[in-house]
Amino acid sequence: MKFLEYEAKKIFSEYGIPVPKSVLIRTPEELSGQMDRLGSEFVLKAQVDVGGRGKAGGILMADRKNGVATAKELFGKTIKCLPVREVLAEERLPIQHEYYLSVAVDRSTKEALVLFADAGGVDIESLAKNSPDAVRRVSIPLLMHDLPPFMIRDLLGKAPKEIGPVINKLYRVFCEKDAILAEINPLVTTPAGVFAADAKLIIDDNALGRQGITANRDLTEREREAEKHGFSYVELDGSIGVIGNGAGLTMATLDLIEFYGSQAANFLDVGGGAEQERVMQAVKLVAAVPSVKVIVVNLLGGITRCDEVARGIIQADVSQPVIVRLAGTNEEEGRKLLDGKGYRMLNTMDQVVKAAVEAVQ
Ligand code: GDP
Ligand code: MN
Repeated sequence: MKFLEYEAKKIFSEYGIPVPKSVLIRTPEELSGQMDRLGSEFVLKAQVDVGGRGKAGGILMADRKNGVATAKELFGKTIKCLPVREVLAEERLPIQHEYYLSVAVDRSTKEALVLFADAGGVDIESLAKNSPDAVRRVSIPLLMHDLPPFMIRDLLGKAPKEIGPVINKLYRVFCEKDAILAEINPLVTTPAGVFAADAKLIIDDNALGRQGITANRDLTEREREAEKHGFSYVELDGSIGVIGNGAGLTMATLDLIEFYGSQAANFLDVGGGAEQERVMQAVKLVAAVPSVKVIVVNLLGGITRCDEVARGIIQADVSQPVIVRLAGTNEEEGRKLLDGKGYRMLNTMDQVVKAAVEAVQ
């Protein structure tokens, strides 16, 4: 389960990690009585469960004069399809430098992986790719209660020593909360010391009971709908809708879209035995996202019968073009049905993905 920034910051601060002064507001007006506590300039941060809020317009700078109006603006937005219901108003830190710090599960060694980078606030994947030397890492067996000082020194390099204790505290959060990811990006230095300017915490769903947590996440309407039907469904940033059966085939379709230089808007794994009704619901659900310009259906018919799938696609009757690759049981029947209604059915995964990428260019 993913925690929102303010929830994660509350936990981090319980472990002694310094966080900025803040108030959580649920209406713009609530801010007017609280501004005294934040200083003359502050930051308004949408509490929505998406990465890269800054770039998506979810973080606004404000001051006493325009505070309430700026909060109004933020509450009026939807950030990557999620409405803004809560805003964290924080004192604006005079940032000297931004670092990146995270603790994650290292699946290969079955240990904790601690990452520290001299450049924070940015996307860590691209940093690791473009300047690998700026990212340092250590792996540590989860049985250790503290990071040994030599590991902290290795991670820090030339970064200020005052960051050391924060690294150890985040490692403790990670261990004690059964996290799969604890991240501070950016971890910032200011004249008043080190602060977690952002916070991300994901706890292993299998540990929620042990941690005494009941999940009540803000799902988008479509995510809720997908859950109801038992689909695996995820929303992304691109413009191609993807429907597959089985995680492997669905992921391979996404990889191929990336390979041809485009991005999926969302993807849905219908699971096994996709009958007409289910396929219809899947297509409608994927098509309901405004950013979806074309839909790729890539299904392998085993238990799933291709003619059932074709009927489901036709019944959904969505406005976007649907490009189909069906292989397996009753493939020819499926093809005839789709041909009859003017849908494009191609023979290989490569062909459907290429066609979809061309369609959105
Ligand atoms: P994210 O986009 O969801 O990762 O949100 P962050 O909380 O990481 O904020 C994005 C960026 O906004 C940070 O990298 C900072 O550059 C900037 N930012 C956030 N809080 C402050 C602050 O208190 N002071 C200043 N000057 N910049 C901030
Ligand atoms: Mn961040």
